[in-house]
Amino acid sequence: MRRYLVAGNWKLNLGPGAGRDLASAVGERLRGRTLHGDVLVCPPFVTIPAVATVAKGDPVMLGAQTCSAHENGAYTGEVAADMLKEAGVQYVIVGHSERRQYHRETDDEFRAKIDRVHAHGLKAIFCFGELLDERQSGRAEEVVRAQLTGVLPRLEGPNAYNLVLAYEPVWAIGTGETATPEIAQQVHAFSRAQVAEILGADVAANMRILYGGSCKPGNARELIGLPDVDGGLIGGASLKAEDFVGIVDGAEAAVG
Ligand code: PEP
Repeated sequence: MRRYLVAGNWKLNLGPGAGRDLASAVGERLRGRTLHGDVLVCPPFVTIPAVATVAKGDPVMLGAQTCSAHENGAYTGEVAADMLKEAGVQYVIVGHSERRQYHRETDDEFRAKIDRVHAHGLKAIFCFGELLDERQSGRAEEVVRAQLTGVLPRLEGPNAYNLVLAYEPVWAIGTGETATPEIAQQVHAFSRAQVAEILGADVAANMRILYGGSCKPGNARELIGLPDVDGGLIGGASLKAEDFVGIVDGAEAAVG
């Protein structure tokens, strides 16, 4: 049985004070409940220490939105995986479409970042997904296959527990438009089959594949209830405790 993961990507929102308040509010709403999955928040780097004081894995875990592809050295502005670990981070998002689009990050960088994350005992959430014109021109599966085969076969030590995938159709991110359950299930099953080819059937059966793209309390139950969807990567709706916990409630209802 795969445990669901509901992960909030705060993006470029919430400094230390507001971040601590939001993480506290989420923690208060969830504390004392028996959850059948995992809940994670990924603040901006500078907010991580403040959130770490209230999100220590019980019940809310702490993640980062990216990390350096390098271990240390003369890389101005970068933050290394071991520094994140020291700050209390357990998960690092890699390959988000905004990193692909605005920072021109490549498969080589994703592979190096995931290897650094794994080298320090952290878990990576690797994002992939097609653009609108790629879907409209019938190339969604081709793009997804290329994104997965460009990174997964070359990783040093991936397994079903240190790597989480997140299918995020770019046309659904921040647009209010959600993939239909049919599209989500079809791409998730296709992605799981790719993982089976690359890493083996056992890894594929146990690896969590999240859906991301305008997930909200009203659609979380249906999406996370799909056979190959194991949770959500949440942008906009992770910025309000009520909405984010509403998605966790949807996940609980989906597995319950
Ligand atoms: C995201 O950026 O990972 C995301 C899923 O955003 P939103 O939920 O706002 O569509």
